Amino acid sequence: MKQPFIGRFAPSPTGPLHAGSLVAALASYLDARWHDGAWLVRIEDIDEGRSVPGAAEGILELLDALGMHADGEIVWQSRRKHLYQAAAERILDNTYPCGCNRREIADSRLGFAPDGAAIYAGTCRHGLPPGREMRSLRVRVPETGLDEISFTDRFAGQVTQHLAHDSGDFLLKRADGFWAYQLAVVVDDAGQGVTDVVRGADLLDSTPRQIYLQHLLGVPTPRYLHVPVVRNDNGEKLSKQTGALAVTAGDESAAVAALVQSARFLDLDLDLAQAPPRSRDDFWQAAIPAWGRLLARRAAAWPTRLAAAAD
Ligand code: GLU
Repeated sequence: MKQPFIGRFAPSPTGPLHAGSLVAALASYLDARWHDGAWLVRIEDIDEGRSVPGAAEGILELLDALGMHADGEIVWQSRRKHLYQAAAERILDNTYPCGCNRREIADSRLGFAPDGAAIYAGTCRHGLPPGREMRSLRVRVPETGLDEISFTDRFAGQVTQHLAHDSGDFLLKRADGFWAYQLAVVVDDAGQGVTDVVRGADLLDSTPRQIYLQHLLGVPTPRYLHVPVVRNDNGEKLSKQTGALAVTAGDESAAVAALVQSARFLDLDLDLAQAPPRSRDDFWQAAIPAWGRLLARRAAAWPTRLAAAAD
């Protein structure tokens, strides 16, 4: 029997979709279509402080205008807080209340995680110091030596992290009361039956923390594929903060131009015999098999042990 294949795109509605997020959307969509799988869209509006009103609707309209149609209902994280709460309760023994404020965390940090977050020194690990109140909830990672998490990324290859050194005890619930992205993403990927996560390489370093939470919750680990991050001329990741321009698809030629630009970034060989695609349909017809060729090219460059991941 054919194994189910479920991919997803999970934008945070912090602003309009820019060229960087379109690359992640395109790669996840092509991967699902190439594998005859389903493609889901989840709006990651769990961080309500950063969500911009109307941005999610704009992203959904744009995806439609580009010809990327989700299979199944759109899922909104802001409506799923009860599920994050229930998951946190299931792993309560592996968590602890933390009373440290931002300043204390910064002053005592053990270093920085690859994503720039301060590595928590574990001050509250053995109980809240007297007179302190809980501000946030943290996951206790295993002691050094038992903390290795490894996985094979379908693009990046083998990734290994030592949680104690590389992330420290990380947040499950933030001081502002919102559930942390790491928990929400794990609960949702499992709840939606996602088998294949395709997203930007800025999240490669978060993946071991997510795998650790999957182990604690007893849910499956999906396959992962992280695509390169689009940077501006200053080498910064495109984002609202770095002034990234919104993708527009006002008419068919603008839609095709945006798609072709993202496809080029992914190094897709569209095999168009020089003519640019005239319509979205032309684009998709060329791009889906081009994704298959890209996977085969990548697989050929890997040791045989990893080649199976691209099948
Ligand atoms: N919501 C995240 C973002 O927009 C993506 C999370 C994920 O794909 O796991 O950067």
